[in-house]
Amino acid sequence: MQPTDDQSAGLLARWRAIPLYLRILAGATLGLVAGVLLGAEAAPLAMPAKLVLRVLGALAPPLILLAIMQALMRAHLGGQQAWRLVTLLLTNTLVAIGVGLFVANLVQPGALTTTDPPSPPATKASGAVDPLAQLFDAIPKSIAGPFSDEGTVMGVIFIAVAFGVALRGVRHHEVRTVEDLVHVALTSLITILHWIIDVVPLAVFGIVASIVGANGFHDFVALGGFMLAVLVGLLLQTCYYMMRVRLQTWVRPLGLIKDVRDALVMAFSTGSSTVTMPLTYEVLRKNVGLREQSASMGALVGSNFNNDGTALYEAMSALFVAQLLGMHLTLGQQFTVVLTSVIASVGAAGIPEAGLVTMTMVFKAVALPTDYIAMLLTVDWLLDRCRTAINVMGDVTVSCLLDGKTRDLGDRG
Ligand code: ASP
Repeated sequence: MQPTDDQSAGLLARWRAIPLYLRILAGATLGLVAGVLLGAEAAPLAMPAKLVLRVLGALAPPLILLAIMQALMRAHLGGQQAWRLVTLLLTNTLVAIGVGLFVANLVQPGALTTTDPPSPPATKASGAVDPLAQLFDAIPKSIAGPFSDEGTVMGVIFIAVAFGVALRGVRHHEVRTVEDLVHVALTSLITILHWIIDVVPLAVFGIVASIVGANGFHDFVALGGFMLAVLVGLLLQTCYYMMRVRLQTWVRPLGLIKDVRDALVMAFSTGSSTVTMPLTYEVLRKNVGLREQSASMGALVGSNFNNDGTALYEAMSALFVAQLLGMHLTLGQQFTVVLTSVIASVGAAGIPEAGLVTMTMVFKAVALPTDYIAMLLTVDWLLDRCRTAINVMGDVTVSCLLDGKTRDLGDRG
C-alpha cells in the first residue's frame, strides 16, 4: 500500500521533531556498525555525503552573495562609528583565524592518524555506466553552471524543481523593493539548505561506514583531536575577548558573562546567531547597561558580518584536512586560507551549519578536496553550537568596545 500524502507528511514531521544531533548521533553509530561489518564494501555508502556536499557547494556562492548584500542593504551605518565597527570586526576576525591556525599548527590534529594518508571517502571506481552516478552528475556543481555553455538540461531541471518548491512558501510575499527581492531569494536558498540538513544524518551514516570500512578507526582519533583543538581555539578566542573588554571598556569580564549568559545559552541551543540577535541586544541593554547605539551597532549591525567562531573553525578545518592528507600548506596558502576564511565567515548567514556551506569556498581556494568536509559532518552538530556561542560573544565584545571606557548611567534600556 502506498503511503498517503498525510502519512508521509506526518512521518517527516516526526523525523524532524527528533533533535538533529540525536539523528546525527544515530547515523554515526549505525555507520560505525555498518563499516565494521562491511569493511571495504561500505564504500558506496558514501554517496549521500557526496550528494550533500555537491549541493552545499552549489549553494555557497549565492548564499554568500545574498547574505552580504542583505547585510549591507539593511545596515544603518553612519560616520565615525561605522569605521570603528569595521576595524573592530576585522581585527577580531583576524585574531580568531590566527588563533585557529596557531592551535592547528601546534596540536597537528590531522597528524594524529597512525596510518598512511587515507584515500578520500570515495564512492565508486569509474568504469561501467552507473545510473546512480549519472543522476549524481546531473546535479549542478554551481547554480549558474547549467546556464553556461557546458550546462545540461538536467541541471536546469534540478534548479527549477528546487527553487519552484522552495518558492512556494514565499509565493504570496509582496516584492515591492529590491530589499524584498533579496530577502525572498535568500529565504528560498535557506529553505533548500534545510532540506539538505535533513539528509545529513543519512550522509553521516554513510560516510562513517565508508571511512571505518576502509581505514578503521584511525581517522576518528584524528577527528577527536581536531574537536578538542577547535574547542581550545574557541576558548583562547574568548580569553582574547575578555582581555580586550577588561582593558578597553568600563565593563568587567566576569560580570559580563553572567549578564549575557541567556544569549550564549540560546546561541548554543539554537545554533543560530541570527535567531539569538534580539536577545543579545536586549541583554546588552538591560543587564549590561550599554548605550543604545553601542548595543545596536555591535549586536544588530555587526552581527551580520561578525562570525569569528566560524572564521576560526573554517581555517582550522582546512589545516586539519591538509594535515590528514599529509599535504603541506605553504605560508602563501595559509594566507589564502586567512583571506577566504574572512570572506566565508562574513558570508555565513547566522543559521545552523552555514559555516559548513561556506567552507567549501575555503577548501577550493587552496585545492583541498571538499570530500573531506563530509567527515566533519559527524562532529559539526556540536562544534556549530560552540562556534555560534563565540559568534555571539564576538558581537557582545564589539558592543562593549564601542561603548568605551565610561559608562552612561542615564541611558539604560
Ligand atoms: N551557526 C553559526 C551562526 O549562526 C554559523 C556557522 O555555521 O558557523 O552563527
